[in-house]
Amino acid sequence: MAYLGNPAYTMAVLEKHGFHFQKKYGQNFLIDTHILEKIIDAAEITKDDFVLEIGPGIGTMTQYLCEAAREVVAVEIDTNLLPVLDDTLKEYDNVTVLNEDILKVDIASLAGEKNSGKPIKVVANLPYYITTPIIMGLFESHVPLASITIMVQKEVADRMQVGPGTKDYGALSLAVQYFAKPEVVCVVPPTCFVPQPKVASSVIRLTCHEKPPVEITDEGFLFRVIRASFNQRRKTLANGLNNAPTIPVAKEDIIATIEELGYPASVRGETLSLEEFARLSEALKKKVH
Ligand code: SAM
Repeated sequence: MAYLGNPAYTMAVLEKHGFHFQKKYGQNFLIDTHILEKIIDAAEITKDDFVLEIGPGIGTMTQYLCEAAREVVAVEIDTNLLPVLDDTLKEYDNVTVLNEDILKVDIASLAGEKNSGKPIKVVANLPYYITTPIIMGLFESHVPLASITIMVQKEVADRMQVGPGTKDYGALSLAVQYFAKPEVVCVVPPTCFVPQPKVASSVIRLTCHEKPPVEITDEGFLFRVIRASFNQRRKTLANGLNNAPTIPVAKEDIIATIEELGYPASVRGETLSLEEFARLSEALKKKVH
């Protein structure tokens, strides 16, 4: 059987089905077998695994996943791709294609049904227009997860893995690192896709923590504190928190808390580590009015 990662075969399949790319769905299909192999290797899929693929496109990566995994569910929003997927995946009996918007799928129920509630692996070449909602949706809805191996914009992968004091550090870095250990697998140039995206991409593997690295009594409040702290990047931490309606703490209590924790009143959010945000969040929680 011909694998789709081969550019000539991919073009032939697109032509056969008269497929037209839809920009609004972030459709950039992979045409590089080396990158596909790297993604599958990094995801460490075995015949015991249930894998969720987000956005199979014409089924390029899905074919590799079907070969490696016990079972695959691929969620694709574009109805025009269904006849293509029927064709390209016809040799596999361990795959189900769901024609849905991933943001509306109850993934926790899917994991319950297909994997007895055990942690699942997610693999995707993500549509870039909704990268953050997809990742945060997976984490915040507490889907049982083993790992997420994804292609994202290079710049987004960089933001996920940096620490305090760097220009890319922000709410996404902290959220991802609270839930997982990020490792960039490789950088992927635009020439590996059809059509070519305008930016470079990276494959990043997020190995999900069994237990978060910091102890916290109210996860929702921690994330509200983090978001408020980075909402206005050029402002001080105290101003960011004070301007956020989601943090109902008086300005003088915010400043007192910051100083009690040993920071100057002018400290900026981008210098604090996850551990420090956890302490700040616990202390502020006690001052909510
Ligand atoms: N996996 C394929 C590949 O690597 O060649 C296609 C990747 S392409 C970057 C992203 C895919 O996600 C497209 O097939 C697109 O139609 C699909 N998609 C976009 N938004 C989606 C959504 N909200 N839910 C499910 N799939 C979506």
